[in-house]
Amino acid sequence: MQKCSVIHEGGTSTGSSVSFGGVGGNVGAFGTSSTSQTTLAKKLAPPPRMGVVAMIFLTLGVLFFGFLGVGMMRDPGAWWIYWLFMAAICALRLFIGIKRNIVYAEKMESYNRLWFCHRCGEVSSI
Ligand SMILES: [Zn+2]
Repeated sequence: MQKCSVIHEGGTSTGSSVSFGGVGGNVGAFGTSSTSQTTLAKKLAPPPRMGVVAMIFLTLGVLFFGFLGVGMMRDPGAWWIYWLFMAAICALRLFIGIKRNIVYAEKMESYNRLWFCHRCGEVSSI
């Protein structure tokens, strides 16, 4: 028997790399981080939650694509419909994230009680 959280940590590895390249005459460095997981680590993943950083990136992303979309519009008269659409997506994602965060502590508590049996592959709560 092995704790699920331990298996998840052990089967997850994060690597980062920096690459140099040029796009349209602009040369820059690109940093990428990648996460690789074993199938078992993926299966025994902890409950999801949305961090503050993710929320900020979501909002910035919506604002960015909002302005980009309105800027590319041929008929700017419909800009508010587009913004309404973008705001709805943003609100929905935040709603799901906040909902997950509310139950996160409770779910994490039961997740920390989960054990995995390597012999029969069964997950049991203790
Ligand atoms: Zn067993």
